[in-house]
Amino acid sequence: MTTMRVTIDANLCEGHGRCYVLSPDVFTADEEGNGEVLGRELDSEELIAAAERAAKNCPESAIALSLGL
Ligand code: SF4
Repeated sequence: MTTMRVTIDANLCEGHGRCYVLSPDVFTADEEGNGEVLGRELDSEELIAAAERAAKNCPESAIALSLGL
């Protein structure tokens, strides 16, 4: 199946925490409470859906998904 990658633009993230609260399998918090990608390949429907859910709910539109390599 298609794998996806997810990134957070640290210049946009304001640390609202929605990503790691909504999708803790994909994101965590750094020491300042900003979102951080756990770094795993999104290789299942569940993980891709979790990343998309976080991206839709990020108030700063800081989360981007792209096709994995
Ligand atoms: S939801 Fe968006 S702004 Fe909030 S911590 Fe996650 S990436 Fe940052």
